[in-house]
Amino acid sequence: MAKDDVPEVVRNKRVILRDYVTGFPKESDMHISFSTMILKIPENHKRVVLVKNLYLSCDPYMRLRMRNDQDPEFTPFTPGSPITRFRVAQVLDSTHLGFKEGDFVWGTTGWEEYSFIARPERLFKIRHTDFPLSYYARILGMPGMTACAGFYEVCSPKRGEYVFVSAASGAVGQLVGQLAKLEGCYVVGSAGSSEKVQLLKERFGFDDAFNYKDEHDLEATLKRYFPEGIDIYFENVGGKMLDAVLINIRVRGRVAVCGMISQYNLDQPQGTKNLMCLVYRRIRMEGFVVFDFCHLYSEFLHKMLPLIRDERITYMEDIAEGLVNAPAALIGIFSGNNIGKKIVRVAPE
Ligand code: NAP
Repeated sequence: MAKDDVPEVVRNKRVILRDYVTGFPKESDMHISFSTMILKIPENHKRVVLVKNLYLSCDPYMRLRMRNDQDPEFTPFTPGSPITRFRVAQVLDSTHLGFKEGDFVWGTTGWEEYSFIARPERLFKIRHTDFPLSYYARILGMPGMTACAGFYEVCSPKRGEYVFVSAASGAVGQLVGQLAKLEGCYVVGSAGSSEKVQLLKERFGFDDAFNYKDEHDLEATLKRYFPEGIDIYFENVGGKMLDAVLINIRVRGRVAVCGMISQYNLDQPQGTKNLMCLVYRRIRMEGFVVFDFCHLYSEFLHKMLPLIRDERITYMEDIAEGLVNAPAALIGIFSGNNIGKKIVRVAPE
């Protein structure tokens, strides 16, 4: 926009958290509101960026921020304000030297159509625009980084090892399974429907997969799929699945604790019975957070871009249209409604 143009004033649609949430989240825990926004950074605002949001990412972790948790690692959302999470956006105006009008970026922002970014140094500039921009909300963004960091940095995989991935059709799991196959591992995934099980085997190349909802004895199920035991467990769900894995894990096995989605809507988390296995089987169980690996982002791109270009890795996304459908999209992931990464398209590219 030329300096003497009159800045455009828009109605900025936003997704607001009504109040802290207990139990299973509902669409009505959020509502859509509008604010007025001038699409120009005021003269006295230095080093800030104004963006138009294009895609928002629905992440299970957002549920943890809907509760009034006192743990300093979980900054809760503020009731009455937009919820926040990753998105892909286009820069409309910038007073930060690192960004200019027209740049595409990904990073954290409010769930709204337009956002001021007060700390743009936390944004990642999108340099490979030959890929669809939505990729930066999924395979080339946070979920992709999570899969790579968790699998390579935490699991330390070796060729021929037995790998189990839970929530395997989700944003992170589908990629972990494919990376494990590329490393020459034997991979089994669990998911919550026969359609997803078929997808894991036929599209993502898992060696085998099962529907955990059809299994009444998960310990026996895992024994059936891993008669030799499990070397690596990529943990996405927690609860009963973790207990069943611990019984089936081999000596010096590794558990990368990425998340525990089965616990996020419980007021009282379930306990884990089989932790003694960690001791006598010398198991390393390690939690990790993707933000600790941001410094590896260019290395990550260097690895992933050729794999995607050569179609050695595939990825599924599940797009909801428009910010009004964002609350339903978000809560749907806790019922397994998504097949692949759930994204909200806020505006056309
Ligand atoms: P996603 O794409 O949103 O998929 C979530 C899937 O989890 C759902 O589709 C559903 O599939 C399954 N699920 C939901 N409720 C469940 C339950 N009660 N028991 C078992 N499965 C359930 O998820 P994602 O983005 O891949 O995230 C996977 C995990 O990684 C989550 O725990 C998340 O918090 C964690 N995560 C961690 C980091 C980190 O930095 N550590 C970063 C990103 C994500 P089914 O149909 O199979 O049930």
